Amino acid sequence: MTSFLLGYSITLGMLLSLSGYLIWMLRHLYRFERWLQNPVLSDAPESRGLWGRIFDRIYLLQKKEKAARKTLHQVIKRAQDSTNTLTDGVVILDEHGLLEWWNRTAAKLLNLRTQDRGLMLTHLLRDPAFKQYFESETYQIPLVLTAHNKPLEFHVTQFGKNERLLLIRDISHLQQLEKVRTDFVANVSHELRTPLTVLKGYVETFLQIDHTLHPTLKRGLAQMQEQTQRMEALITDLLLLSKLESSPPVRTATSIGLTSLLTRVMAEAKAIYPHKEHSFELSVDARIQLLGHEEELHSAFSNMLINAVKYTQTHGHIQLQALVHEQEVWVEVIDNGPGIDPSYTPRLTERFFRGDPNRTQQISGTGLGLAIVKHILIRHEATLEIISRPGQGSCFRCRFPQQSFELLQTASTKYPTALAPQE
Ligand code: ADP
Repeated sequence: MTSFLLGYSITLGMLLSLSGYLIWMLRHLYRFERWLQNPVLSDAPESRGLWGRIFDRIYLLQKKEKAARKTLHQVIKRAQDSTNTLTDGVVILDEHGLLEWWNRTAAKLLNLRTQDRGLMLTHLLRDPAFKQYFESETYQIPLVLTAHNKPLEFHVTQFGKNERLLLIRDISHLQQLEKVRTDFVANVSHELRTPLTVLKGYVETFLQIDHTLHPTLKRGLAQMQEQTQRMEALITDLLLLSKLESSPPVRTATSIGLTSLLTRVMAEAKAIYPHKEHSFELSVDARIQLLGHEEELHSAFSNMLINAVKYTQTHGHIQLQALVHEQEVWVEVIDNGPGIDPSYTPRLTERFFRGDPNRTQQISGTGLGLAIVKHILIRHEATLEIISRPGQGSCFRCRFPQQSFELLQTASTKYPTALAPQE
């Protein structure tokens, strides 16, 4: 009996202490769970033993995480504050082109408001040129366009998972400087014209009365005449370039029949260096009507053809042709002249760049011809391609896109017309 009572009280005691332990555990678990719902550091539960150690660990982890969050927040705030002081606009777009974040300048330049976050940028900036640039995913060259009455330069860079960073620059002051420069060049060129005409007139008059002139004087005057002619060509080219730069893009385009235009260009070029005895070939697809400014296009084709005549050695062969190639019209000047060193080709359309100094010392020129051609083509949304190899001749190709021409479909002009080679 006694042993039964002893066994019973031991079991009861064990049961009681087990229940007590269980209640203690559940209470701590409950406190822990309550605290996790709102883990304010100052309210962290405390205890002794195992739970005490667990609470201390979690408390430390929370404290560390809070400090890390604070540092991160400070870093982000500093980055945002510094980008907000930038004079350039910065916009971050996600992989779908949706607006994620922008700085103060971008908000001002593009009229962005807080509620625009998450919208497509191309829906807010509804310029077809921008849409095309943005969707092209080739961003090497920045895009310049007028948005909200300001000339803006847009430059996109990709990062992360096709996310994009858009930099926007207000280039009003650059355009203003450029205008001052072109106005200056135009004014100087214009002012030089009158004194030059007087000088040229006198030199020509003196040279005409050659029987009375001393040979040394005559030689000097002949050189003066050559140099005044050079200066005159330079001034004419500079004035043309300034005019092209300052006039608005060719919008009111007229339809120009290429056959008559290129026939005229060829006739004029042939008359320039008759002693070179080149053979010429003209071939035009008579359906082609270019949409643009006739005198500008005349000047561009003429510059290229005169170059071919000028740089090709005597008895050369010079071709002028216009053809339809896939979706484009190509106007090409091809010669079998000396060709161009590939290292010079990319720079040929720069102002005053004349390529090989040995060659250009003997052949006069201003170095402005191809710059004029490039400008005229840009104004017609066309591009210039130069294909050349030293010793194998050159091909200067003007590529006109679909919107710059139309094709006549009448029976008489439906097929390419090749004009017979003209001698
Ligand atoms: P310019 O002829 O007055 O020097 P351009 O701008 O018209 O200036 O041409 C730039 C340079 O390109 C020329 O100086 C010449 O070196 C080169 N070039 C142009 N056309 C040809 C051509 N058909 N063959 C060889 N070189 C050429």
